[in-house]
Order: sequence, then structure tokens, then C-alpha cells
Amino acid sequence: MKPVYFFGGGKADGSASDKNLLGGKGANLAEMTTLGIPVPPGFTISTEVCRHYMEHDNYPDNLERQVRDVLNQVENIMGQTFGDAENPLLVSVRSGARQSMPGMMETVLNVGLTSKTIPGLIEKSNDERFVYDAYRRLITMYADVVMEKAAVIELSEGKGIREKLDKILEKMKKQNGATNDAELSAKNLKELCDIFKSTIKDTLKNEFPDDSNTQLWGSITAVFKSWNGKRAVSYRNIENIPHDWGTAVNIQAMVFGNMGDGCATGVAFTRNPATGENNFYGEWLPNAQGEDVVAGLRTPNPLNQMSRSHESGSLPSLEEMMPDIYVKLDAIQNQLEYHYKDMQDIEFTIQNERLWMLQTRVGKRNGTAAIRMAVEMTEEGLIDEQTTLMRVKPEQLDEIMHPMLDMEVEKQSKVLAIGLPAGPGGGSGQIVFTADDAESWHKDGKRVILVRSETSPEDVHGMYASEAILTSRGGMTSHAALVARGWGKCCVVGCSDLSISTQEKSLSVNGTTLNEGDWLTVNGSSGKVYPGAIPLKDVNLNKNPYFKKLMEMTDHQRKLGVRTNADSPADAIKAREFGAEGIGLCRTEHMFFDPKRISAMREMIVAEDENERRKAIMKLLPHQKKDFYGILKAMAPHPVTIRLLDPPLHEFLPQEPDQMEQLAKDLDISANELKMRIENLHEQNPMLGHRGCRLGISYPEITEMQARAIFEATVQLVLENMSPLPEVMVPLVGSVAEFIHQRKIIDSEALKVKDESGTQFKYLVGTMIELPRACATADQIAKEAQFFSFGTNDLTQTVFGFSRDDIGGFLPDYLEEKILPHDPFQSIDQNGVGTLVKMGVEKGRDVNPKLKIGICGEHGGDPESIRFFHDSGLNYVSCSPFRVPIARLAAAQAQLQN
Ligand code: ADP
Ligand code: MG
Ligand code: MG
Repeated sequence: MKPVYFFGGGKADGSASDKNLLGGKGANLAEMTTLGIPVPPGFTISTEVCRHYMEHDNYPDNLERQVRDVLNQVENIMGQTFGDAENPLLVSVRSGARQSMPGMMETVLNVGLTSKTIPGLIEKSNDERFVYDAYRRLITMYADVVMEKAAVIELSEGKGIREKLDKILEKMKKQNGATNDAELSAKNLKELCDIFKSTIKDTLKNEFPDDSNTQLWGSITAVFKSWNGKRAVSYRNIENIPHDWGTAVNIQAMVFGNMGDGCATGVAFTRNPATGENNFYGEWLPNAQGEDVVAGLRTPNPLNQMSRSHESGSLPSLEEMMPDIYVKLDAIQNQLEYHYKDMQDIEFTIQNERLWMLQTRVGKRNGTAAIRMAVEMTEEGLIDEQTTLMRVKPEQLDEIMHPMLDMEVEKQSKVLAIGLPAGPGGGSGQIVFTADDAESWHKDGKRVILVRSETSPEDVHGMYASEAILTSRGGMTSHAALVARGWGKCCVVGCSDLSISTQEKSLSVNGTTLNEGDWLTVNGSSGKVYPGAIPLKDVNLNKNPYFKKLMEMTDHQRKLGVRTNADSPADAIKAREFGAEGIGLCRTEHMFFDPKRISAMREMIVAEDENERRKAIMKLLPHQKKDFYGILKAMAPHPVTIRLLDPPLHEFLPQEPDQMEQLAKDLDISANELKMRIENLHEQNPMLGHRGCRLGISYPEITEMQARAIFEATVQLVLENMSPLPEVMVPLVGSVAEFIHQRKIIDSEALKVKDESGTQFKYLVGTMIELPRACATADQIAKEAQFFSFGTNDLTQTVFGFSRDDIGGFLPDYLEEKILPHDPFQSIDQNGVGTLVKMGVEKGRDVNPKLKIGICGEHGGDPESIRFFHDSGLNYVSCSPFRVPIARLAAAQAQLQN
């Protein structure tokens, strides 16, 4: 095992392909070095060492010597020596995992500053202020990361050492009339360092170490330990990152953005991460170090004209202040994007008019931006169509379909404040001021907006639970913006007019005060904030040219068809707009809840004999015919799968006394008689009771009527020169005999309608496969049926023996105990239910190779399940209209992954 990888002076041991070993940061530092980009020299201790450390609680034998050797190489390039009194080298110690976990792990800057090295650095730099600024930063970071967190000293919430030191800094600024930290003098800072050190001793009962090597190894160990820190673990749980990867540690020569006005630090994206526009976008701060930009302590300056915002309005850009450096930076960002063929998120520091790159990685982006970038990069010839399709996550489409504020209402509303639009879409909810409150209110079913002055990694659980996030500080690269962007959440940051009191749980802005629980609305696309609740509205995706392009590309690649579940012409039309190629499930029972129809439905259900029943049914026929006409018309010439009546009948029965009275009247029977008839319909287990095709077998006249309604509507459309294609689907079939029974009725009704009208039409008769027995006997059923459609909701229910309506009682325990990896009603259980699906497909196609097979359960819109259905050889999936674009993309990706 090679524990240590060097980079510097144009050469590197590793490269971008070594992410697993060197972490993303280390691998890319190596890559940039080899590309000839100016990167301060350093080295990476591999993730293997981290895993070794986690297992054995100490380092591999030779590590210390190897580190010493490679540190020598860095010293040679820099012409400085670590721990040297005259010409000391300072380093940063940075975490860096395989996949970026923004802000979750730790970094310590300016390591190596001690009472021995400080005088030498002051003399060399001729800048006492700078040295004590660096020192106070080192002390803060080291105390927090190494002495508190890694030592697992648990101080109570808000009482951590970092908070304590930050408060002392605030006080020092106030006392000296400084509006920000850059205005503190050398004397102030020196004094600050002394106070810091004594505070640390009092609080943590330990001295801040005054030895370079102790600082170095303390930091390295703390970074390794931060992998198992509380925040990092919970972030990995949310993001599904394995816990055994480990982190690498990067040790790198310091460059200083805090040495005066010719110095700066910044963060940038090669394209705008919020809109996807191909504009170099970023923020910078003069005379600052490290995470000052991200931490949002000062309002950052815009990088260039295109990055200017409401907040940074008049602040000078880097392009204006340091034009030569800007040109170099712009060239490097172009080079990096071209090299990596994707949008990069970069960190840079300028020390005395010299530019250094400190990080590059693939930048996080929201759905809107992901789609636009991917499509534009194909058009620019940077990536091919396959890559484009793999670049957008199906969930990101979901995100752009998220509602926006109702524009009409928004126009009339008074703006409360304006911040930076960090995460698009609209959000409306009740104000909370802490992450814990956000989480617990959300659990109580409330919609909340988390309001903070700025967020930190400690807040992620509450951010996750919120409709939107609003902060008063920070820029477009602040923590809140970054996290919200990753999740596609509505977010406004840097809304500096807000003054927030977390203690009193209130905020005031321009003379208005709002308290916890008050309603607030946020427009994450414009940065505007409104008091009260503004209704949300759906977006018109078809006006988005990038979305359209991407959807076209999915159609070039995918084999799997995508249909929709729709019960009304309006849903059918919406789904067509989203690209549905037919209806995979039209539930007829939903049509009966209309107040005008429900009474005829009830009459049918409680009818005593066939005669009474037929009378009631004939009242329903015209309604059904009209519905089928509308849906078949909206979808023609695409197929519409219509499921015959399925649910237990008692679902339709009246509950209220006045409804009962009305029904008795309609039927011309006594209230008692009606009560008895209803009691007779009572079932112990309605889900396994008189439902599905069992209804049509007991009451063939129901099937007759439904078939007739379908075919008469079909004839009417044929006469109007349309090409409707109905597919009649028999539900809950467990044996071929049931299917044959129903099919005979349907076929004979079709013949009658053809004869009566003298009109020919096409139709299919098939079945739902939703019982284990149907899968086991699929070969027999396939001889008779023209198509199968897996009803994976009922199939999951019957395979597991879980009642879908009651799973809530125990599912949380099952997930907690890891008995189930996820809710099997959301993502298909591939091992169990999936095995039956595969059996059904194989047996069915054995006897009927051309058998058309689809799936119409909830799983039809779940990307993970869609991959499974693709691999199982299904012809199509069917999902709700809003999932259709997601399913199209997931289907294309499933094909590309083969
Ligand atoms: P994170 O993973 O949280 O971004 P980083 O390791 O990138 O943490 O470091 C935090 C900040 O310190 C970044 O802004 C980075 O640019 C800066 N930084 C890290 N190493 C150096 C260095 N050697 N010289 C100057 N700044 C540095
Ligand atoms: Mg950090
Ligand atoms: Mg970084």
C-alpha cells in the first residue's frame, strides 16, 4: 500500500482517476497540477490509511517517515521549511472524500504557526497584521476541529468553542468600531489570539499546542476522525453514501489571500449553477482567507458583471479590480471545463497578484441548470447524447416540475424583502428559526420555512424538512445555497434586510415583525420574500426548450414505452403533453363518485335481483360512454387500457343518514330494508373479498354494461374518423377460467355493438397480473389474454401479505431495523415481488412470444423500479402524468446502462 501521494511543480503521483484512493479533492489537485495549472504543492494521504486507522486506531508503521519525506519535497519547491524559525512553511490540512460532502468534514488552515515561527513569518512578510490574522484563524479551527470535535468533547448546543471564540471576535470588532474582520489591526488581532488561547484552556481544559509537528498530526488525525463525526454520518445516511469509504487527507502549502489588498479569495462555477446559463459565475472577497466567502461573514463581491446581484450591486468585481488576474482565471476555468467536460466548482486564492487554484470538482446544480447545461454541452459538441442523458438525474426533472408562485397573486403582493435567488421555485410555509423545530413541525404535518442568519452543516436535517430556506447572510455559494441546490429546494439567501432573533423566535424587516408560526412565502427564482401565503402553481414545461430537447433525446435511446395512469380527459391531455404514449391504467370506478352518478351506482350495488340491477346500470351507461369517449379521443390513436370495475363495493355505500334516506327513497324501499341489504354487503377483509373480476362474475351485467359503454364510444369515434384503441382489462384474475368467463362477455358485447352499428373497430382484451397465482399460471392465462399489465400495488400486497392501507403501523420499525431496505410500495422489491414479475413475463412469453406486457402500479414512476422493468423485458411502464418525463428519462438511462 502506497500511503502518500505527492503533487507539485507540474508533477503528481496521482490523477483524476484516483478518486477512490485520493478522494475527489486530492485526485483533482493532482490532475490540475499535471495540467500545468498553478496549484500550491502538497500531498495526499490515501483513504486506505483512513480505513487502516479506523480499524486499528493507529497508523501504518511507516507513515510518519513517508510524510516527512514528501513534506521535504514540498519544502524544496516552496523554499521554506516546516517549523523553521526564520523561513517557516505553513500548510493546510484538508479532508476530501470520494464523493464531495460539502462542509461535512474538517479543514485546518495555517498549520505550523507557533511562538517559534511567528517572528520569522512577520519578518519575511513584513506584515504583522496578516500573521496574527492567520494565527487567530488557526487557533479557532484547531480548537474546534481537533481539540473539541475530534476529542469528542460534547459541549451543549450553542456553547461550542467555535461559537465562544466567534463571540469574542464580534466583541473585539465592536470595541474597535470595525464593521468587519478585515478592519481589525495587528494589535487587535494579537490581543485576540491571547484571549482565544486562554478561553480554550478554560473551556477545553487543554492548551493550544505551540509545536508545528503536534499541530500537523493533531490535524491529520482530526480529519480522519471527522469521517465518523455526527454530521458526516447523518449526511451519508441522507445521501446513501457508504460508511466504509473513508476520507483522504490533503496537506498543502498555504497561499494567502489575507495579506492585504493585492490578495483575495474566491469561489466560482464555470456556468451558472442556478440557471444553467453558460456564464462564468462567482464571488470573491479581497483580503480574506479560506472559507470567508462560503461562510457568508461579509457580502462577497461579484466576480464579473454577469455575477452581479441585488446584494452585491455596487461592490467592485474582480474583473474590474484585477483585470489581468481575471483573464488568467477565466482561461483556467475554460480549460478545466473543457478538460473535465462538465461544469466545475472551483476555489482560488490570489496572493500578491498571483493566482493559485485550490480546488476543482464537478459542481452541484439544480434541475433547471442540470438540463440546460447538459443540452447546451451537447450542442457545443462537448459531450454526446448518451452522456447528456446520464447527466440529468430523474429526480431533477421532478424538481423542475415543482410549483412556482401564482404570478397573478404574487404581482399584487407587497414584497417584504429581497435576497439572492439560490434555489428556484416557490415555497410557502410557517416560519421556524431552528433546524430542530423545522424537523419536528414537519413531522407534525406542517409546512415550514426555515429562517436563519446563515446555515451550517449542523442544520441539514431541518433544511431537509423545510419547504424553503431563507437566510439573511451569505451569497450564492454559501452553505444554504449549496445544500438547497443539491436537493432542488426553494431557497433565498443573503437577504440582509432581515434581522433575526433566534432567541425570541422573531424576525423584523423594514418595520414589520414576524414570529414563529407566521406564514411566509419565498420566491427562490427571483429572491423575493412575501408575508403570508401565496398559492403555488404548476409550471409550463413545454415552454422550456432545453427540457423539450432532453425529452426528445430520451426517445432516441429508450426501448421501454411510457404510458400514463389517467381517469379523465384532462389528465389524458396533460399526460400527452408530457409525452405519454397511451394510457396504461384508466380506473373506471373513479368516475362514479360524481354526485350525479353515485346514486345510480348505489342503486346498482344494493339491488336485490338482476332486474333491479340492470335498471340501475342502464342509468350509468350514458355517463360511462361519455367518459370513455373523452379519454379515447384525447389519446387516439394511442391505446387506452380500461380496467373493469375493481374495488370492493362497500366503498361506494352511503355513510350519512341523509344519504341513506335518499337512497331508500330512490329504491322505493324502507330504511330498515336498506340497512339490511347494506349489512349483507359487509366483509371482514374487503381487500381479499368480493372485488375485481369476482364482481363481474357474480354480476355479469356490470361487465356487459362497461364493455358496451367502451365499444359504443369507440364506434362513435370511428364514425368521426378517429382511430381509438381500447384495451379492456380484467382485474384481479387468479385463474384462467375467471378470465375466459369475462372475456366471453366482452367479446360478445363487441360483436353486438359492431352488428348494431354496422361499424368495425379494433380492441384487445387482457388482464391485470396482480395475484401470485396469476404469475404462477401466467402460461395458461397468456393463451387467452392479448396483454398483461402487472398491478404491482396489489401484487406487493399479496406477495408480502402486507395490507397497503395498514403498512404505516409497522413500516417505520421495519426500516429502522433494516428488515426492509425501503418501502416496497414505492420501489419494487426486486427479490421477492420482482421474481414473480419475471416468472409472469417468462411464462407468458413462452406461450405467446408477442404478448404485450406493461406495469401500472405506483412503481411505474420510480426510476429504480423502471430499470428493473426494463431489464425484465416489459414493453411499457405506466405512471401518473407528472412522472411521465421522469419515466422517459429513467427508461433511456436503463437502456444506456446495458
Ligand atoms: P471544503 O471541503 O470544506 O471546501 P477545503 O479543504 O476546500 O474545505 O478548505 C476550506 C477553505 O480553505 C477553502 O476555501 C480553501 O480554498 C481554503 N484552503 C485550503 N487549503 C488552502 C491553502 N493551502 N492555501 C489557501 N487556502 C486554502
Ligand atoms: Mg469546509
Ligand atoms: Mg473546498
